[in-house]
Amino acid sequence: MKNILEMSINEMSNLDFECKCGKRHSLPIKEICIKNNALDELNRVLSTFKDKKIFIFSDENTYNAAGEKTVKILKNNNHTFKNFIIPNSKEILIPNEKVLGRLFMELENDTELIIAIGSGTINDLGKYLSVKTKIPYIIICTAPSMDGYASDGSPLICDGYKISFEATLPYAIIGDVNIMKNAPDELIRAGFGDIVGKITALMDWKLSNILTGEYICETCITLTERAIQRVIDSADKLMNRDEKSVQYLLEALTFTGVAMGLVGVSRPASGAEHMISHYWEMDFIKRNKYPYLHGIKVGIATPIVLELFELMKEELPKEVFKYKYDKKDVIKLLKAVGAPTLPSEIEIDRDLFYKSMIGAYKVRNRYSIFEYAVKRGKIDEYSKIITEKIYG
Ligand SMILES: [Zn+2]
Ligand SMILES: [Zn+2]
Repeated sequence: MKNILEMSINEMSNLDFECKCGKRHSLPIKEICIKNNALDELNRVLSTFKDKKIFIFSDENTYNAAGEKTVKILKNNNHTFKNFIIPNSKEILIPNEKVLGRLFMELENDTELIIAIGSGTINDLGKYLSVKTKIPYIIICTAPSMDGYASDGSPLICDGYKISFEATLPYAIIGDVNIMKNAPDELIRAGFGDIVGKITALMDWKLSNILTGEYICETCITLTERAIQRVIDSADKLMNRDEKSVQYLLEALTFTGVAMGLVGVSRPASGAEHMISHYWEMDFIKRNKYPYLHGIKVGIATPIVLELFELMKEELPKEVFKYKYDKKDVIKLLKAVGAPTLPSEIEIDRDLFYKSMIGAYKVRNRYSIFEYAVKRGKIDEYSKIITEKIYG
């Protein structure tokens, strides 16, 4: 097998190799196809499912974006399939008991492949259906909005709470850049925010590696950094829907999922910025409020976490700052794509913000800059400084 450092994302299917970090990494995704007109490859990808019943589902928006085309391809190639569009899904689709129950009702017993067409929520529903039924699934991406395409977790809403379920990896990921470049602005900005968040995620991983001896894989770090870099370098053209910029964004989002799969933990993708964003999200869900898109929150959280790093720069190990982006750079990048940069822009008030700074370390049992600050008895002081700067 070619060295992973020389592979393009489309070559990263069926990965299995001994790594310098001492681990054997493997990832059984059969096909990753991210490019212009990737949908043209669908029939080839489906060659092992000839004469097998396929269940396709989408929501009202993603059906228009890619569902119709997919159905046409299946028809033209004489596949047997059932097409289901989730009703009343034009405004907002919540992956709760009701939607999931409906999908199970629509899924016919002799189905042998599931094709989910969409982004975050649809993808989460697809992989959950797949893990429960042991039927493989393919995701046809409609927006570069989050990094869950190549990951095996599925966050769903149960009884009003967000719960992360274990799910399966997709059989194939098909990301057609021609479709994705027409995704709504907010979804593209969210994907960009999720990528920007990897800067602090990698800093946290390094910090934990140095201070707690936690396992780290430099190969995955190098690959993640490279993927982020391409997104950053082409950020100014992203909202003009430059094809390369859109492609790099989806590649980076997919790659971070691949990296998580390889190391078996979400370290390459999430750190303190995700913890504080989850804190906000849980608070919104508790109050029955729409919590804004994942990546929008992560994007806003990233310069805040960077500021915490910067406030403690003197005492932190130098290696943590190897990555060259600071708070100001990240704010500039977010502004370049028109994404919000302040918590107040997404209805997070002073009180919630301060509480989230103090409490984010409890969101999950994972070493981060928050825990570092808590253990040194500095979290109150620095949270006050940061809150004061933002809210005056
Ligand atoms: Zn490794
Ligand atoms: Zn994320």
